[in-house]
Amino acid sequence: MSSRNDQLFDLSRKVIPGGVNSPVRAFRSVGGTPRFFTKGQGSRVWDADGKSYLDYVGSWGPLILGHADADVVRAVQDAASLGLSFGAPTEMELVMAEKLVAMLPSIEMVRLVSSGTEATMSAIRLARGHTGRDTLVKFEGCYHGHADSLLVKAGSGLLTFGQPSSAGVPADCSGHTLVLDYNDIDQVNQLFAEKGDEIACVIVEAVAGNMNLIKPKAGFLEALRENCTKHGAVLIFDEVMTGFRVGLGCVQGLYDITPDLTTLGKVIGGGMPVGAFGGRADIMDKMAPLGPVYQAGTLSGNPVAVAAGLKTLEKISAPGFFEALTARTKRLVDGINAAAHDAGINACADSVGGMFGIYFRATPPTSYAEVMDSDKEAFNRFFHLMLLEGVYLAPSAFEAGFVSAAHTDADIDATVAAAACCFEKLAD
Ligand SMILES: *Cc1c(COP(=O)(O)O)cnc(C)c1O
Repeated sequence: MSSRNDQLFDLSRKVIPGGVNSPVRAFRSVGGTPRFFTKGQGSRVWDADGKSYLDYVGSWGPLILGHADADVVRAVQDAASLGLSFGAPTEMELVMAEKLVAMLPSIEMVRLVSSGTEATMSAIRLARGHTGRDTLVKFEGCYHGHADSLLVKAGSGLLTFGQPSSAGVPADCSGHTLVLDYNDIDQVNQLFAEKGDEIACVIVEAVAGNMNLIKPKAGFLEALRENCTKHGAVLIFDEVMTGFRVGLGCVQGLYDITPDLTTLGKVIGGGMPVGAFGGRADIMDKMAPLGPVYQAGTLSGNPVAVAAGLKTLEKISAPGFFEALTARTKRLVDGINAAAHDAGINACADSVGGMFGIYFRATPPTSYAEVMDSDKEAFNRFFHLMLLEGVYLAPSAFEAGFVSAAHTDADIDATVAAAACCFEKLAD
């Protein structure tokens, strides 16, 4: 008798490509049937067969307060009762913009959009419009949404333009993108020395979270800042994942680097579709209707979505919020490190704020090559063992994990106990 999850997946595959509306949900990397969720409350989710899991995906980061936070749900209901969308300005968008400007010193002006992809795509267009240059620099393994110019893998050499990493992307679109190695300061310096005056912008996940979690090496972000300043290129921190997830000041606050533009998403929508890009006023002034760079959105600044985001930002601004979240995430990571060590498993974990990585290698990776060098098969077995234990991790060895304020110490300790048990089974 097949499970309800299996039935739903079979039916979905007939009408939705791969059965999913975003590829990593399909469990292709780990194998097996994706869980269809019916309900989430606090730190837990329930699947279509009624099994519950401690959730460390949190909708890929947005749910920093956990599932169905009562205050956020109420804010959404209140906003919805006043109208779902106007396509005209609302006071709540002003409040949201003022809040983002107050929270991030690098942001003097900001525009709201409906997804992280829109935010990065628009920020790049703006950087190009501002500089009058075309060349975009990104780092392998960093994900910035699915716009054409970003679905690019490295070319054959440092100074050769990238190749499309997806079918359907014309070479012309990827042909302005240079792909460097994350954390490689020498490459950055060399590239700017040779091509600095052609570079419109550098976009980076300042703490990387889309190739599992990788922290910037000492001096890496500084090198980006210095080179961009010297050559008049725009430095874009893509904080769609890290924004208000690693700390109230985001990565730019933790590492004390001021980008020219910042992209946001995930947490600022609290589970609803909100993205944003903002930064220096002289650059933001180039946006239509003031300036020549066009960008628009029917549902941008949607009142129901903004209500969820505002309530979320308000709650995470409470004194001690990030200290507690950071400590709880550290408790998880310390427990996993100890459990791996005790079981003799070649795995480790690391965290920044409410984000963590579990790596099947001896030490946390510092580069894309190192993360790719981890034991993917061991992760896949661990993933499925944890799922049986009622712990839902991201279904890929190359994704970061997220702890929410709804995770209790008891949840964390239960997760560590489950991990210890799974490591023991892996060791056999
Ligand atoms: C999730 C993510 C995006 C894309 O956001 P969507 O809302 O999925 O379009 C962009 N950049 C980073 C760093 C992300 O983690």
